[in-house]
Amino acid sequence: MLKIGCHLSVSKGFEAMGKAALSINANTFQFFTRNPRGSKAKDIDPADIERFLALAKEHNFATLLAHAPYTLNACSADASTREFALETMRDDLRRMEYLPGNLYNFHPGSHVKQGAEVGIEQITALLNAILTPDQHTTVLLETMAGKGTEVGRTFEEIRAILDGVTLSDKMGVCLDTCHIHDAGYDVINDLDGVLEEFDRVIGLDRLKAIHLNDSLNDRNAHKDRHACIGEGKIGADALIRVINHPKLRHLPFFLETPNELDGYAKEIAFLRANYQE
Ligand code: FE
Ligand code: FE
Ligand code: ZN
Repeated sequence: MLKIGCHLSVSKGFEAMGKAALSINANTFQFFTRNPRGSKAKDIDPADIERFLALAKEHNFATLLAHAPYTLNACSADASTREFALETMRDDLRRMEYLPGNLYNFHPGSHVKQGAEVGIEQITALLNAILTPDQHTTVLLETMAGKGTEVGRTFEEIRAILDGVTLSDKMGVCLDTCHIHDAGYDVINDLDGVLEEFDRVIGLDRLKAIHLNDSLNDRNAHKDRHACIGEGKIGADALIRVINHPKLRHLPFFLETPNELDGYAKEIAFLRANYQE
């Protein structure tokens, strides 16, 4: 059974997201922990969570993916911006304990003029400050397109961050197909080679989720602009190979394509029809 979902708005709560997912034949979803401006999060409603958990159990949902506000920057040159990222992520992880056993993804950040090495140190310092031995959430680093000074544009940078984290078993990776294509990895013609490299540099056991997106740009463009499945430069065939790949097919896939619910429903139907059970 293909584990697939899309990005949904958290504004109406978890039960509403669960029902929206079911309405488009999804069995998981991604959501922002708070609005992307990174302001105060909505209060958790335990009754809503309880209804969602019952629904998720009944319908055999796969692991959920929470996404930190993309405006956070764990490796800003400005200490107060780093502190804000730290406090926001710490609060998110505290809230994630209401949904134990799920995933929390974040963008490593942009080092601006500090250099990737300093950026990597600041990101690991933040993670070492917020991770706790008894948390029930796995924190994922997202592979980035390498727009501007983004950290995480190579598997080596992701590995360097992981190497600096003490509670290493709380960490994993979310691979974004649009981002790695834009970063220069050839997911179209050499998926096997890309996964071998991922395994050699990071280890495939670290890979916990896939963002399944097409890309508006050519490989190595360092742009990060998502396209609908089959409407970009990666193409439907290559993305179908991704969901069926023996090393990936068990993972949860999340669409972040430019769609409303009906567009997501069509993409999910298309991918399910092309998934080899
Ligand atoms: Fe992201
Ligand atoms: Fe993504
Ligand atoms: Zn992106």
